[in-house]
Amino acid sequence: MRYIADHDFHIHSTVSRCCHDESQTPDAILDYAKENGFKKICLTNHFWDNTVKSEADWIDEHDFSHVSSVLPLPSDNNIEFLFGCETDMDFNNVLGISRERFDAFDFIIVATTHLHLEGNTVRTKISTPEEAAFHWVDKLEKLLVKDLPFHKIGIAHLTTGHILKNQTAEALSLIPDATMYSIFSKCSDKGVGIELNVKTINLTDEQKNIILRPYIIAKECGCRFYLGSDSHKASALACAKENFEDIITQLNLKESDKFIIHP
Ligand SMILES: [Zn+2]
Ligand SMILES: [Zn+2]
Repeated sequence: MRYIADHDFHIHSTVSRCCHDESQTPDAILDYAKENGFKKICLTNHFWDNTVKSEADWIDEHDFSHVSSVLPLPSDNNIEFLFGCETDMDFNNVLGISRERFDAFDFIIVATTHLHLEGNTVRTKISTPEEAAFHWVDKLEKLLVKDLPFHKIGIAHLTTGHILKNQTAEALSLIPDATMYSIFSKCSDKGVGIELNVKTINLTDEQKNIILRPYIIAKECGCRFYLGSDSHKASALACAKENFEDIITQLNLKESDKFIIHP
């Protein structure tokens, strides 16, 4: 049975300081879910736990009192609206959520590819595909050895343009298949969700071969996938479903490939 696009587990609202669309409210996000026939959605604003010490710059911007100001989320009889977050690992590989805080969220997305955030995710600016490829691998490996409740964790946007401006494809091409198999075998063992939000619709075949390779390998390794638009604005919500359907087709995903959140 074909994978059903019935959810979106990566959505930002105005609580994220990088969301500049005032109309991106929880009510508008619930409407988006209704219009697209989704059964489950998750609000995942950026989060850095103020109890976690870090040398990075971002600490005070998205603490728990800030991200939880959206609660209670609007409800609907047919849609489960989950409360999640998107956290980071700093340049010392400190994760932005304390062990105790995992219970406060239904789902936690970890972004390992915000490589454009020097001073936070990486210590200094990344300027070559080689450096970007190194950090892509290194951050995932550092995350996967942590003792975490991986069944409620998703790994965000593994092929985002944030890996290296205009050179994300070059960086990804440098990572050998064997390294990807090693990483995604661990992801599969841990039961962590792999996010799908790459916009495949406008890619050339050559670009698709590069951008989809991690997901194809992840699928072979038995990983489970969730859809996440990473929308920061209403216009991004508007085209999310079409994009989801395309990537499901590209990867030939089945319902058995789906990552499910059990809050
Ligand atoms: Zn992100
Ligand atoms: Zn995001």
